[in-house]
Amino acid sequence: MSQPSLIERLGILADAAKYDASCASSGTTRRTSKDGAKGGGKAIGSTEGMGICHAYAPDGRCISLLKILLTNHCVFDCHYCINRKSSNVRRARFTPQEVADLTMAFYKRNYIEGLFLSSGIVKSSSHTMEQLIEAARILREEHEFRGYIHLKTIPEADSELVTRAGLYADRVSINVELPTLAGLTRLAPDKNAATIEGAMDTVKAAIVEAKDACKRFKSAPRFAPAGQSTQMIVGADGASDADIVGKASRLYGDYRLRRVYYSAFSPIPDASAVLPLQRPPLIREHRLYQSDWLMRFYGFAPEEVQQAAGTDGMLPLDIDPKLAWALKFRDQFPVDVNRAPRETLLRVPGLGTRAVGAILSARRHRTLRLDDVARLTVSIAKLRPFIVTADWRPTLLTERADLKTLIAPPKAQQLELFAA
Ligand code: SF4
Repeated sequence: MSQPSLIERLGILADAAKYDASCASSGTTRRTSKDGAKGGGKAIGSTEGMGICHAYAPDGRCISLLKILLTNHCVFDCHYCINRKSSNVRRARFTPQEVADLTMAFYKRNYIEGLFLSSGIVKSSSHTMEQLIEAARILREEHEFRGYIHLKTIPEADSELVTRAGLYADRVSINVELPTLAGLTRLAPDKNAATIEGAMDTVKAAIVEAKDACKRFKSAPRFAPAGQSTQMIVGADGASDADIVGKASRLYGDYRLRRVYYSAFSPIPDASAVLPLQRPPLIREHRLYQSDWLMRFYGFAPEEVQQAAGTDGMLPLDIDPKLAWALKFRDQFPVDVNRAPRETLLRVPGLGTRAVGAILSARRHRTLRLDDVARLTVSIAKLRPFIVTADWRPTLLTERADLKTLIAPPKAQQLELFAA
């Protein structure tokens, strides 16, 4: 059979990559076009300090990077993956040179600002990793490309190769895939949790070493300056939100991850019989991101986020986890916005980090009233039961049994024609 054309392969391999959610590039450091190895301003594609991703697909996934697979051939048979060995999808493959040329062509047309490159496993994990690295090497060394590169690493590859990937990439990521060991064993029988975490440990050690070297020597090579990330598939196995939150927090702690991405499992064509028939509601993915934010920016311990879940370990879908926590722990409220420390204010439902910053700075000059707080938030109705201001005290409102309905009335739901 003849090889599909370049454009056909691009269609196949860009489509095959769409299931990976971990493509955001936030956290990278700025590179200027002057820092090319050859000097003299030959390098191109400077990277902004934060948030290089500009466009999102309708389902919320980032599409601003050229997001492709090197190949969708794979010798593994992960049940949840459209590219698994037993799937009958159309296969295609790029050479590293083709990936580099495509990236440059798209970049020069101003279509993209960087590359997200992943791959199925061909021949062996190390062989595949070598090919991914080669694409990044051509971009960096031959094209002097200074745009953002995110390389997905193959955990089973030689650790030396995983380390080399970080010398070319801004970010490297290794997917843990499933939140529990039982889920991984059942749905990705060729993968090994210890190997995955071993590769994360290798990357962590290399990042720490490179940072240390950079402090001592200006010319020390940079290693994955945007850190490492991972992705967990949500809803393909029986793991609860509490399990997922626990796993994410352990990964953040053990491997200093920049991000854990949560990807609601999407049923794939020709799916394996061990998978659920329906995808979880997308709002579940959103609630997990909110809980992630609570741990990373709002000072919540993982156990506290888990307390926001119900007895089945699932976070409520109709309200955000911060509100769910506040409704369960009403003895912590109301909070006096004119006196409470930052960490206490951050626990008030409806107060984000910016609003808390504004409160802290405004109250240095005057005593805040309810109207002052209202100007900083989207909905003062959500806040009123949880705060005290110069002219407001919720008295018994905080204790009302129907408080949840008062501040988050149930939304009318469109009935599904074919719902069970
Ligand atoms: S290793 Fe598993 S998840 Fe990765 S491409 Fe192959 S089948 Fe898909």
